[in-house]
Amino acid sequence: MKKIGFIGLGIMGKPMAMNLIKAGYNLTVYDIRPQPVKEVVAAGAKECKSSRDVAAQSEVVITMLPNSPDVKKAVLGANGVLEGAKTGTILIDMSSIAPLVSKEIAAEAQKKSVEMLDAPVSGGEPKAKDGTLAIMVGGKKEVFEKVEDILKVMGSSAVLVGDIGSGNTTKLANQIIVALNIAAMSEAMVLATKAGVDPEKVFQAVRGGLAGSNVLNAKMPLVLDGNFKPGFRIELHIKDLANALDTAHEIGVPVPLTGVVMEIMQALKVDAKAGDDHGGIIQFYEKSAKVGVRRPKK
Ligand code: NAD
Repeated sequence: MKKIGFIGLGIMGKPMAMNLIKAGYNLTVYDIRPQPVKEVVAAGAKECKSSRDVAAQSEVVITMLPNSPDVKKAVLGANGVLEGAKTGTILIDMSSIAPLVSKEIAAEAQKKSVEMLDAPVSGGEPKAKDGTLAIMVGGKKEVFEKVEDILKVMGSSAVLVGDIGSGNTTKLANQIIVALNIAAMSEAMVLATKAGVDPEKVFQAVRGGLAGSNVLNAKMPLVLDGNFKPGFRIELHIKDLANALDTAHEIGVPVPLTGVVMEIMQALKVDAKAGDDHGGIIQFYEKSAKVGVRRPKK
């Protein structure tokens, strides 16, 4: 079994690393925060003091970091992955970052004979814990095939969608679909609630029809409880939509609905809600309509 290094043990990275340990992989880990490192080490991983050290001890290095600059720093920066990696190491960046940056990092990695895949995920913390993430991969087929078994420990699907950067392009499409779905759910549920119908009943009535969705099933129960603990923070979704808008404008694709939802998220940020789960988008509508979409008090 390949030796794996894991860098970035946040909401997603920690459970993903835990699943690799459970599957019997030898894991070395690093995060700038000591707490999640302690927890993963207690489960059997080995602690390293830098991304460089992780890479020096691994055949495959996985990164799960917030955004493009974080991945650049951890891979290309001082004490980064490329300083420690041996020829033939495979770097799998599972963070959601700008596709162009994936390509830049892969080009630098290639100079050191390190192969890279961009392999962002969808499914959030619950699916990271269950090992049932949807993984969208960009890179060379022969490299993908070498690590497919590792990806399948963390996800129920791992689809090679194209060359390096394609994984993150797919993720941008995914994030547009998710953001617009949450906004549509929010708009509809605020309308129904203010019109006097119990939102839980509306959820039950529509979920089996064409309006039913994974987004509705995952987010409506949390909304009804007023539970906006992340999950996936609004600030990370702002980052994804900013990458989507940049990419779309660069290649000449107007994305009007994405622009509107981006501004809704910006309003929530001003309202100090950027750290809430993205299900909290509904708070924008609730504030405008002066109504709360919650279970009626028993
Ligand atoms: P997070 O902020 O919880 O975790 C990021 C971790 O990286 C933190 O533990 C942080 O300390 C660590 N880190 C930051 N810079 C570092 C560095 N230079 N070296 C080592 N460690 C460093 O974020 P998350 O929610 O786990 O998300 C990670 C990525 O996955 C993001 O790109 C996000 O968009 C994506 N994603 C998140 C979800 C979700 O539901 N949370 C779902 C799908 C995809």
